[in-house]
Amino acid sequence: MKVLVTGGAGFIGSHLAEAMLDKGHDVTILDNLSTGRLKNIAHLEKNPNFHIVIGDILNEFLVDKFVERADWVFHLAAAVGVQLIVKDPLRSLMTNIRGSETIFESVYRYHKKVLITSTSEIYGKNISAALKEDDDRILGSPLKSRWSYSTSKAVDEILAYTYWREKNVPTVIVRLFNTVGPRQTGHYGMVIPRFVEQALKGEDITVYGTGEQSRCFLYVKDAVSGIIKLMEHPDALGKVFNLGNQAEVTINDLARKIITLTNSSSKIVHIPYDEAYEEGFEDMQRRVPDTTRARQLVGFNPTIKLDDLLNMVIAEFQTQMSPAAKIS
Ligand code: UDP
Repeated sequence: MKVLVTGGAGFIGSHLAEAMLDKGHDVTILDNLSTGRLKNIAHLEKNPNFHIVIGDILNEFLVDKFVERADWVFHLAAAVGVQLIVKDPLRSLMTNIRGSETIFESVYRYHKKVLITSTSEIYGKNISAALKEDDDRILGSPLKSRWSYSTSKAVDEILAYTYWREKNVPTVIVRLFNTVGPRQTGHYGMVIPRFVEQALKGEDITVYGTGEQSRCFLYVKDAVSGIIKLMEHPDALGKVFNLGNQAEVTINDLARKIITLTNSSSKIVHIPYDEAYEEGFEDMQRRVPDTTRARQLVGFNPTIKLDDLLNMVIAEFQTQMSPAAKIS
């Protein structure tokens, strides 16, 4: 199978590219390196089935050229990270909406199968104990960047679904909940790499708000395995699937856990959202997925527990921060 992965140099995209190569497929990644990094895919470069295209999903000619050559398209290129979205809202919107439009026009033109990764941000402020795919979205003002981002990803989902319903384009939609693992950086706001780095450096751990908000963290390889199985399954077409872990942790407990696991002298400090992000910023207090649909169709069942996941991230940061790594 010839596979195109947009955003393939990113955190999740690089793990997906690797997994598809391991399955014997021919993989091309398209990435503009805005948040993706060449070092995420450096270990794949020697594989003759791996091809890198540095370019933008807003470039229709480029997208067309590589979609035409592919059998399957995994569309992961998107604006990621709450901090980036707040800092750069216009670019985030353009990447998500115009970029996805370009991809869908192209897969329609060449009738290719496409899977698009969406996000649990879709549900907004819905704090249900287990969010099902058909649950309501509860959003604040569209003038707040977090909710406009949520809306932009909803537009992507609508595009995918409408192309399927009206034009028979084979599409699958996946909503990822807080995905974590090696190669994720804290630069765009993601909490686990940020806390791990702070703990290892002995700096204050910056908990935003009260810290009583909670999240469920999914190991990136569990996410990738779910993504691939859904792409492979004919009955996933035209449907949306939550992929996430159901074990919930508050951000305060997460900070304490990371301090213990790293044996750190760091202290926890609480920072108001207005200071951490922007005035009027609203967080989600809770976000727990119901993954019954993916479990029933493809046996999705995350394997890695939070402590093991944290130890993996800690080990990666320790290696990166070691004196040997700094010299080389
Ligand atoms: N968070 C925090 N300190 C940080 C970064 C994030 O307390 O340095 C909080 C953030 O406010 C949110 C949670 O951790 O409540 C998860 O944040 P992340 O950006 O990783 O994911 P998302 O908000 O998209 O779920």
